[in-house]
Amino acid sequence: MLKKIIAGNWKQNGTLKSSISLTKKVLQAVKKEKYTHEIIIIPPSIFLLPVKDLIHKSQIKLGAQNVSAFDDGAYTGEISGSMLKDSGVDYCLVGHSERRHLLNEDESAFSSKVSRLIDNDITVIYCFGETLNDYKNKKTKIIIKRQLKKLFLNNENNLKKHSSKLILAYEPVWAIGTGLVPTPEELVSIFKYIRDTVNNLDKKYASIKLLYGGSVTPDNASSLMDTEHIDGLLIGGASLIAKKFIDICSTIWDKYTMQTALLTIHIILAVILVVLVLVQQGKGADAGAAFGSGASSTVFGARGNATFLNKLTTIVALSFFVTSLSLAYISSNKSQTSKSLINETVKEEIVDDQEKFDKP
Ligand code: PEP
Repeated sequence: MLKKIIAGNWKQNGTLKSSISLTKKVLQAVKKEKYTHEIIIIPPSIFLLPVKDLIHKSQIKLGAQNVSAFDDGAYTGEISGSMLKDSGVDYCLVGHSERRHLLNEDESAFSSKVSRLIDNDITVIYCFGETLNDYKNKKTKIIIKRQLKKLFLNNENNLKKHSSKLILAYEPVWAIGTGLVPTPEELVSIFKYIRDTVNNLDKKYASIKLLYGGSVTPDNASSLMDTEHIDGLLIGGASLIAKKFIDICSTIWDKYTMQTALLTIHIILAVILVVLVLVQQGKGADAGAAFGSGASSTVFGARGNATFLNKLTTIVALSFFVTSLSLAYISSNKSQTSKSLINETVKEEIVDDQEKFDKP
């Protein structure tokens, strides 16, 4: 099963003390629960090193929120890709809507930043998404395509060689920090569109992971992750509260661990069932020997052996039936929860509160 990604963007929040405390709490949970997702924390640059000191022996990865568009030199106030690398940074955000809209960064700055990061072996988490105006005017897909095309065209050589160094994060601007989330139907359609658009640019891009970001909470995280093509979540506000961030990691972890375990048992049972049927049909003499049929016939006699195989087959078949039902229940529950992800109230809020969220 694909490794999921959970990334927490702390933005310009916290103090040294609160950053250390938050990191320690996340670290404790990660050590206790032994999550297998890729967990990334993205603190303000000034706290990168103290956070790195705490997480360096753990599975938690360090992300930066920004990088200079230039290599080392006379660029007062900037932090270069090589400095980030030197500080143990594995990931860096580029294209976040707050940098696009509040700090007026454009595609050409983003493309220089992508190059600086790839040159320094840092994975880019490239954010993109439409504003509320685009959304209202049904331009979501046009905007997404435009943003993605610019990214891939401006960085064609680098990305074709290093596509594993890119993660894409779809973040509708109107969903960031607002409590609003696209409907499940919208998410399914948008993520299919993103996947197709990226794959059609070059088949090398088919393994680029896709994240969703915008008002993720412990309540909606699991449903969001059930959406086809969503490989992980980029979390802003909820990543600042240890319990919420840990709860998000845990819900996803519990669900996928249970699913993986059930699926493994299901496959093993299927194989045993096939072998048992073959043995009993007399077509599987070798398999029967491997099962020790000689030994069991000495203990049970020929008839005892047959009864034992019959009983075993019944038990395995029943267990197979139970795992089938459980897997079917999980997948039907999956679509039900995803249907209730956004309710009418939220949809109404989008319409009524348009002006409020018009500003990015
Ligand atoms: C973000 O800023 O990347 C983000 C997703 O924020 P929030 O989770 O607070 O909406």
